[in-house]
Amino acid sequence: MSKKMLKFVSVDKQMPEKRGADLRKEDFQEIYEEFETDKAVEQASRCSQCGIPFCQVHCPVQNNIPDWLNLTANGRLEEAYEISQATNNLPEICGRICPQDRLCEGSCVIEKGFESVTIGAVEKYITDTAWEKGWVKPNAPVRELSQSVGVIGAGPGGLAAADQLRKRGYQVHVYDRYDRVGGLLVYGIPSFKLEKDVVERRARLLADGGVTFHLNFNIGKDATFAELRDRHDAIVIATGVYKARDIALPGSGLNGIVPALDYLTASNRKGLGDEVAEFENGTLNADGKNVVVIGGGDTAMDCVRTAIRQGAKSVKCLYRRDRKNMPGSLRETTNAEEEGVEFVWLSAPKAFLGDDNVTGVKAIDMHLGIADSTGRQVPVEIEGSERDIPCDLAIKALGFDPEDIPALFDEPALQVSRWGTIDADPITKMTSMEGVFAVGDIVRGASLVVWAIRDGRDAALSVEMYLKKANQTALAS
Ligand code: FAD
Ligand code: SF4
Ligand code: SF4
Repeated sequence: MSKKMLKFVSVDKQMPEKRGADLRKEDFQEIYEEFETDKAVEQASRCSQCGIPFCQVHCPVQNNIPDWLNLTANGRLEEAYEISQATNNLPEICGRICPQDRLCEGSCVIEKGFESVTIGAVEKYITDTAWEKGWVKPNAPVRELSQSVGVIGAGPGGLAAADQLRKRGYQVHVYDRYDRVGGLLVYGIPSFKLEKDVVERRARLLADGGVTFHLNFNIGKDATFAELRDRHDAIVIATGVYKARDIALPGSGLNGIVPALDYLTASNRKGLGDEVAEFENGTLNADGKNVVVIGGGDTAMDCVRTAIRQGAKSVKCLYRRDRKNMPGSLRETTNAEEEGVEFVWLSAPKAFLGDDNVTGVKAIDMHLGIADSTGRQVPVEIEGSERDIPCDLAIKALGFDPEDIPALFDEPALQVSRWGTIDADPITKMTSMEGVFAVGDIVRGASLVVWAIRDGRDAALSVEMYLKKANQTALAS
């Protein structure tokens, strides 16, 4: 092993510099600075090069982490980049927004008492450097193939499938109902976590490598699913989940109660320079308001931190469990607290108050009762503990369900689960329909970018096998 490794005993874990809360809440720029080269080298050198690297096992795309850490520690960055991009189509994006504490870094087995290796930040550093140095090149397939694949959805799942298939030489067409490439990377996740030019340069790279994008193109409206199947030899569905979960509470119809994704999309569009009427007229803008966000997941964290940056008077996050049991990333919760968000733990909404516009949320205290079949403690109301929390904007961040895809696509043969997610074989990603594959959130339910990438890569392999077989059958007949 290189003498440069195993430095965790003498070098402490360090993240790249984080901008101070007072400074960063004034803008929507990413909050972490880039590593300086010597810092990235130093942090990479903390890895102990495990024989069985649990970081890799728990990375959904099985990144070859020990190898690219070793190469980084030895200053061989271009090779580190080659290895890193071989398993991940969007490494600089995962490096920024994967919940590393639950994945790679959470599984790093550096001895007890020492903190994990800073894997995500090094991954980001390697690929950002590769972009800077011009090592990231568009796909140039060895030979062009005549078969074509239609990908529905330009989010990370669709992009990973498109990238992999284009590398093989297939004619790849990506359809998206939005006007930009990226799905939730562009319109969901705020730019203080992921700046939009990082996504845009990936979109350009794919286009330069021969992927054809059809934007503002809604499958089910601008073309039927059947037409798309006629046009292409295989289809990959990567449409994500967009139906906001709701709660039926008294006062739900008041003005000033908005779904989280509408709110975040308006903010992202505004940041991209679009005209957004609901932002200008204040419907989807927290400026000067007392804001209550309901929910404890990553979407709720993105809403509270967006509201702070828009100039809200106060921002409270209402969550029915406690900090330890919230689904959102702890790192993001800490960031939100630093920026001035007040968390009201163990608290659930009972009603929205007001005549025309919302003026408050009636909340009730909860305690955590016995665990249910999933092992999670069930929140139980504490009788008589209701109180009013004043607000003039309430944002509901309660999660997402799939839209009714078989109905939208007019394709009853497309089988879905009882939750409405598309049934796809866990290995091949093939759906109940021949030559139709499905990946990402529309199969898993609301999940993570890195899992969508993994699915997209797996589906691409299966599509390739499927198309080769179709070719052989055609030649034989
Ligand atoms: P999406 O990214 O949703 O893309 C689906 C695409 O399909 C969209 O562009 C949509 O326009 C298009 N589409 C849908 N229907 C049609 C149709 N009929 N015709 C044409 N196009 C269609 N994950 C993380 O790992 N880290 C995070 O920090 C994180 N933060 C998040 C914050 C928010 C606010 C949200 C909502 C999610 C977050 N996620 C995060 C989850 C992550 O964004 C998703 O898991 C991931 O984007 C799923 O990828 P996908 O390709 O399956 O779908
Ligand atoms: Fe960690 Fe995500 Fe990178 Fe895998 S892709 S190494 S989980 S940051
Ligand atoms: Fe290095 Fe930690 Fe992975 Fe072991 S688990 S190879 S120490 S990053």
